[in-house]
This record gives sequence, structure tokens and C-alpha cells, in this order.
Amino acid sequence: MRIMNGAALAKKIRSVLAIEIDFCKSKYGRAPKLSVILVGNDPASMTYVKNKGKSCNEVGIESDMHYLPFSTSQEELLSLIKTLNEDDSVDGILVQLPLPKHIDKNVILNAIDYHKDVDGLHPMNVGLLNTSEECIIPCTPKGILSLLKSENVEIAGKHTVVIGRSNLVGKPMAQLMLRENASVTVCHSKTRDLPYLTRQGEILIVAIGCPNLINADMIKPGAIVVDVGINSVDGKMVGDVYNSIDVSSIEKKAAAITPVPGGVGPMTIASLLENTFEIYKRRIHSAKC
Ligand code: NAP
Repeated sequence: MRIMNGAALAKKIRSVLAIEIDFCKSKYGRAPKLSVILVGNDPASMTYVKNKGKSCNEVGIESDMHYLPFSTSQEELLSLIKTLNEDDSVDGILVQLPLPKHIDKNVILNAIDYHKDVDGLHPMNVGLLNTSEECIIPCTPKGILSLLKSENVEIAGKHTVVIGRSNLVGKPMAQLMLRENASVTVCHSKTRDLPYLTRQGEILIVAIGCPNLINADMIKPGAIVVDVGINSVDGKMVGDVYNSIDVSSIEKKAAAITPVPGGVGPMTIASLLENTFEIYKRRIHSAKC
């Protein structure tokens, strides 16, 4: 079984980005800028946000971090988003999810100027993705597609089974694979006979957040398996598939798999940097027109 090394590809993407950003910075007089908002101090979210800021800085993207207390009201958050929407120096805006329960996530995501919506979660970008038009593609599905392409995985005509239908991963992943001419089946918690469906997957993308749900009997021989899940088991980071208890049997069945860590995670961050840079270039060019 081949390991699809997302960490290595992400490193290459970052080094190319650093060169391009340096060039654009001297040409256009400013670096791309990503504003990141975190409400509250959830430890996992704090780590994600810090890593995003660090990754931005490494490639020359200016990161503008907004750490807001848990008690921040929806109106206060909307007011900050309005300020960032109107700030010409800000290219991308990212609101770290999940938000506290007293804030309506959809109201917040809809308030971000969709041209600056670096996560691609605004309904406008969701709609543009569904109609195969130019849009900002959510970072995790975009990173997965880049990794599959760099591994020369043939997608057109392949039966892709996506487990998970979240707005963040499952749904945009399914749309993206459709755009690439795969035949797509989407499974979720109400799916009947999940093993029957997963066994049809020439490409199996697992985004559940549940370790050990997938075993070797559920995998088609020769399948390409993308493990999106991030779970903590006994203090160790594991995927939904990669380091499950059935891993040695899975290794004999699948043709390739993404590891956890080092697979989809680094590709998600690389795609965030790419999205920020793409938005910056679009904004620079439209300001010049
Ligand atoms: P989510 O919003 O909780 O969605 C999970 C999906 O899994 C839902 O659609 C749910 O179905 C489905 N599901 C749950 N139990 C199932 C079962 N027994 N059988 C079939 N489907 C089941 O999570 P998410 O945001 O999509 O993230 C999924 C996982 O990926 C998490 O572990 C998350 O940490 C990880 N993740 C990783 C990255 C990365 O960069 N590596 C990025 C994003 C997310 P229903 O819709 O019916 O509830």
C-alpha cells in the first residue's frame, strides 16, 4: 500500500508560494493579508489558529489575528467582520469554527464578503462550486484534490464514495469530485448498509470523525483511501482509517492511503495559503482594472 504524503506536497506548495509572494510583494508594494478570528479559547481551535498564523508568516502572508473572548456577542462579531470586509488591506477573512452556541454560525459566515471568504463557506461560493464556476474552494477538499492529482490518481469515471456530508468537507468534496467527472456516492449516519456502499468505492474519502468505523471488509481491493478524520485516542492523533485497529488488513486491501498525521491536514493548510494568495491576486488585478 502506497502512502500519499500530504506533508511533503504541502512543503513543496509552500516553498513555491513563498517565492511567488515575495515577487508580488515587491511588484505590488504589499503582502497578502489574512485576518483570522477566534472566539473563545477552545484548546484545539487555539492550536489550529496558531498554526495557520505561523504558516502564513512562513510564506510571507501577513496574518492579522483577532482573539475574542467567549462572551463576545453576535453583534460585536458582525461589527468586526464589517470592518474587515471594508478594510482594503485585508484579502482573506477566516472565522475559526466552531463558534460558541450563542452565535449563529450561518449568520456569521454569510456576513463575510464572499470575495474574501478564504474558507469557501459563504453560500455564494457554495453555489458557484455547485455550478462549476470560478469560486473559492473549501480548503480541505481542495487540498485532497491537489494531493490525488499529484499522486496521478485517475478520477474521471471512477466511483468515489464520500463518507460524511458536512458543509466543511463532505459536501464540497462530493461536488469537487463531480466536477472532475467522478461518479459520486455520499454516505452519512443514516445510510443503510454502509459496508455495501464503501465496497463500491474505487476512491474512498472518509470524513467522519470516528476511529475504527471502517475495517478492511469495507474497502474495495485496490481502492485509493483518503482519511480526513482527526481523532484523539489515548492521547495519540489517529484518523478514521489510517491507524485503526484493522490497519494491517487494510494495508493488504487498499492501493494507497493518506496518513494521519501528515496527509490531509498539511494539505488543508497549504490550500488556505493558496486561497489567500489567489484572492490577493484577484483583488490586486481588479483594483488595477
Ligand atoms: P462533522 O461535521 O461532524 O461531519 C461528520 C459526518 O460524518 C456527518 O455527515 C455524519 O453524518 C457522518 N457520520 C457520523 N457518524 C457516521 C456513521 N456512523 N456512519 C456514516 N457517517 C457518519 O465533521 P467534519 O467537519 O466533516 O469533519 C470530519 C472529520 O474530519 C473530523 O474528524 C474532523 O476533525 C476532520 N477534519 C480534518 C481536517 C483536516 O484538515 N485533516 C479538516 C476538517 C475536518 P450526519 O450528517 O448524518 O450526521
